[in-house]
Amino acid sequence: MPSYTAPTRDMQFILHDVLNVSEQDTPGYAELDREFTSAVLGEAGKISSEVLSPLNPVGDSEGCVLENGVVRTPKGFKAAFDQVREGGWTALDLPEEYGGQNMPYVLGTAVGEMFSGANQAFTMYQGLTHGAASAILVHGSDQQKETYLPKMFSCEWTGTMNLTEPHCGTDLGLMRTKAEPQDDGSYLLTGQKIFISSGEHDMADNIVHLVLAKIPGGPEGIKGVSLFIVPKFIVKDDGSLGDRNGVTCGKIEEKMGIHGNSTCVMNYDGATGWLLGEEHKGMRAMFTMMNEARIGVGMQGLAQAEVAYQNALAYAKDRLQGRAVTGTENPDGPADPLIVHPDIRRSLMDQKSFIEGARAFMLWGAELIDRSHRGEDAAAEGLISLMTPVIKGFITDEGYDMTVLAQQVYGGHGYIEEWGMSQFTRDARIAMIYEGANGVQALDLVGRKLAQDSGKHVMAFFEMIKTFLKENEGDEALKKDFLDPLKAASKDLQASAMFFMQNGMKNPNAALAGSYDFMHLFGHVCLGLMWARMAKASHAALEAGTTDEAFYKTKLATGRFYMKRRLPATALHLARIESGAEPVMELDAEAF
Ligand SMILES: Cc1cc2nc3c(=O)[nH]c(=O)nc-3n(C[C@H](O)[C@H](O)[C@H](O)COP(=O)(O)OP(=O)(O)OC[C@H]3O[C@@H](n4cnc5c(N)ncnc54)[C@H](O)[C@@H]3O)c2cc1C
Repeated sequence: MPSYTAPTRDMQFILHDVLNVSEQDTPGYAELDREFTSAVLGEAGKISSEVLSPLNPVGDSEGCVLENGVVRTPKGFKAAFDQVREGGWTALDLPEEYGGQNMPYVLGTAVGEMFSGANQAFTMYQGLTHGAASAILVHGSDQQKETYLPKMFSCEWTGTMNLTEPHCGTDLGLMRTKAEPQDDGSYLLTGQKIFISSGEHDMADNIVHLVLAKIPGGPEGIKGVSLFIVPKFIVKDDGSLGDRNGVTCGKIEEKMGIHGNSTCVMNYDGATGWLLGEEHKGMRAMFTMMNEARIGVGMQGLAQAEVAYQNALAYAKDRLQGRAVTGTENPDGPADPLIVHPDIRRSLMDQKSFIEGARAFMLWGAELIDRSHRGEDAAAEGLISLMTPVIKGFITDEGYDMTVLAQQVYGGHGYIEEWGMSQFTRDARIAMIYEGANGVQALDLVGRKLAQDSGKHVMAFFEMIKTFLKENEGDEALKKDFLDPLKAASKDLQASAMFFMQNGMKNPNAALAGSYDFMHLFGHVCLGLMWARMAKASHAALEAGTTDEAFYKTKLATGRFYMKRRLPATALHLARIESGAEPVMELDAEAF
C-alpha cells in the first residue's frame, strides 16, 4: 500500500529561506519563526501520515453509500474527522472571534497540502466548510455570523457550495433554481443542484448549504443570481437544531475518483433559505468562496503529485530491472534498481522539479493572500487575482501529468489497484474539472484578468521579474543557470501578452485559441521565478556554511533541471499562441 510522508523540510525551506516569513511586516507573520512552524507542520504531518493516509485506500475502495436519505462515509472517516476537529485543525487560519486560531493563511495552506496529499476526498469535507465559512464571514450579517460560524469553524457543521445544475455548469446564467421571498424575510428555494461535493454525509450534526438561485422578477442571466444559506436542519433562535429543512440528497454519483467524498444530487423542495449578501449579487459573494476554492484545488494538484512521487521514488529504488548502461551498480543482486536508468531519472526529475517549484508558487500565492487580507496591500491583491487561474489551471494539469508519470514508474503494477497508484491519478483528475474547468480558467486569465485595471497587474508582474533580474544581475552563480533562462521565458510571456493586445480586439478567437497555452506559459514563468528565488536562497545558505549542504545542493541541481528541461516549454507555447486563431478555427463544425 502507498504511504505518505509530509514534506516538512521542503516547506520549512520555502517559508524561511525563500519567503522569510517571520521577517515580513504582514500582521501575524512575526510569530512564524522556524520553531513555531516546525511544531505546527510536525503535528499536521503526523496526523496526515498516521491517520489520514491509511484511510485513503479505504475511502477509495468503500466509497460513500446512500441509505434512506443519509450518506454513510467510509469506515474510519468519522473517527478521523473527530480527531481533526478536536485538534483544532479545521479553523487554523480563521479569526479567533468565532473560534479560529487566526494563524496566517500561508501556514493553513502548507497544512492543507499535507492533509490533501494524505487523503484528498476526506479533506474536501473540511475544505468546503472553510470556503463556505469564509463567504459567510465576508458577506454575512452579524446574526448569520454568530449563528453559523462557530459551529462551521469547528466543523461540527460542515458547508457546501451549490452552483451546478443538470443543464448548466460553466454558464450559470442559465440557472433555474428559484428563491421566492417570504413575509418573514426568508426565501423558499426550489430546484435541483447536481455534483455537490460533501452534499450529504454522516460526519456532522448539520450541513450548511450555500446555494445560488434566482429571485423571480430579477434581472435575466447571471445578473439575477443571488446566494442563500440553506441549512439541512433549521437553526432555532437559541442555536439548537430544529426542523429538517426541505433539502434532500436524491442520489450520489458513481465517479472516477475521490470515492470517499460524497458527490450529491441535491433536491430543494421549498427549502427555507436566507439571503447571504445582497439580492442579485450572488456571484460576487460566491466568488469569495470560489477564489479560495480555486487556490485549494490548485493545491490538490500539487498534493497528489507529491504523494504519487514519493511512492514512485521508493519503488524506483526498490524494484530491480535491467542493468545500468554504464556498468553494474548492484553487483550482489540479479539486476540494478530502476533508478539507475536515465529515462526513470528523467521522469523522477520532472516530478521533483515540478513539485518543489509548484509548492513554492502555492506558498508565495498564499503569502500574497495574507498580504492582501491582513495587510490590506492592494498590489498583492491584484497579483493574486491575476495568478489564481494560473495556480488552479497550471498546477492541476501538471499535477495530474505527474501522477501519470509516477504511475508509469511502476510499469504494469501502476495500473493494478493493489499498489494504489491509480488512485492518485484518478483523484487528481477532478481537480482539472471542478471549480471552473481548466479551459475556463484560461479564458478567465486572458479574457478578464490580463486586462483588469487596464493591465496594471500583469505589468506589475513583469516589473517584479525585471526588478528581480536587475537586483541579481551581478550574481555569477545565478546568471547562466537561473537568470538567463528566466529572462528568456519572461520575454516569451511578454511577447504573448503583446500578441493578445494587438490581435485580441480585432479577432477575439485569436486570443481565446491561445488562452490555454498562455496559462501554461504563465505557470512556467512563475515556477521559473520560484526556482531562481530558491536557487538564490540555496546559494546563500551554502555560503553561510549550512550544516545541511546536501539539501541545498540537491535543490540547486533540481532547479537547474527545471530551467534547462522544462522552462523552454515557453517557446513552444508562444509559437502556438502566435499562430493565432486560424489553425484552430479553420474547419467548419461539419468537417469534424
Ligand atoms: C466530482 C465533482 C464534484 C463537484 N463538486 C461541485 C460542487 O461542490 N459544487 C458545484 O456547484 N459544482 C460541483 N461540481 C461541478 C463542476 O464545478 C462542473 O462540472 C464544472 O464547473 C464544469 O461544468 P459542466 O460539467 O456543466 O461542464 P460545461 O459547462 O458543460 O463545460 C464542458 C466543457 O466545455 C468547456 N467550456 C464551457 N464553456 C466554455 C466557454 N465559454 N469557452 C470555452 N470552453 C468552455 C469547459 O471548460 C468544459 O471543458 C463538481 C463536479 C464533479 C464532477
